[in-house]
Amino acid sequence: MHAEFVTVMYHYVREIQNSSYPGIKGLEFEGFQRQLDYLSSRYEIISADQLIACLTGDAADFPDNACLLTFDDGYRDHFDYVLPELVKRNLSACFFPPAKPIEDHTLLDVNAIHYILAVADDVEQLSRDLLDELRTRDFSEAYLTECRDRLSEPSRYDPAEVIFFKRMLQRELPFELRSEITTSLFEKYVGKTEAEFSKGLYMTTDDLKELIREGMYVGSHTYHHFWLNAVDEETQEQEIDRSLQFLSRIGAPTRNWIMCYPYGAYNQETLEILKRKDCLLGFTTHVGNSILDPQRALQLSRFDTNDFPQ
Ligand SMILES: [Zn+2]
Repeated sequence: MHAEFVTVMYHYVREIQNSSYPGIKGLEFEGFQRQLDYLSSRYEIISADQLIACLTGDAADFPDNACLLTFDDGYRDHFDYVLPELVKRNLSACFFPPAKPIEDHTLLDVNAIHYILAVADDVEQLSRDLLDELRTRDFSEAYLTECRDRLSEPSRYDPAEVIFFKRMLQRELPFELRSEITTSLFEKYVGKTEAEFSKGLYMTTDDLKELIREGMYVGSHTYHHFWLNAVDEETQEQEIDRSLQFLSRIGAPTRNWIMCYPYGAYNQETLEILKRKDCLLGFTTHVGNSILDPQRALQLSRFDTNDFPQ
């Protein structure tokens, strides 16, 4: 059995221009609607159940132009904008919420960073604030200069200054410290506590139950949303177990289930754990067609919404 299909990955989908944070980088709702028109005209949008059926047995009716829609990070956008649009069009999709932010009303550092950047009109000032925070914690000038040289490199989407800021707070600094500094900068720039902001940003468990009632698939995006390849095997297993307990609490499947790796990050240990725990499919952020071969089913590629017309 060997089938190929297209998976599209989405994050923020909302009316950005009219929102409180017009600087946030995401997909405008109208662009999303146009993209659904485009995808529906060229592909057959399939449900997670069709995909699972294909892998566990009956592949007879699997379309050769299949397309799967996936929504990462459990944003309220997915309940407010995406769900009604999918229901209207009689489409199904997969949603991957991280458990802790939803249950404990915390804010993922990666999201805090998005909003800091969305409201800061001077990124150089932001970097100076970050460096000042580090100087008060006795980091040497030599180290800070070395970081600037090594991490300031423009990407496809961001200028060098933004990349420096993101990399320092996403990977470079020790976990506890980068969380502490992110929280401090978030409160300074966005002017809200993480707890109150979290409630507006993510879906609730009731929202997720509603998604399931409407025929949507909800799968694992772990508990804390760590880079799994950066933590030890025991932590990886806890991350996965705690997300499965969360899925079971909201009534989502925990046998033949689907994993979506935060940041697309995993390693050989992750794959071994997932096999032991009845995980059937795993989505990465490698760009390309998804190849439904049982040997590679835990390492499926996806396209980003930006890879298709909007
Ligand atoms: Zn994520």
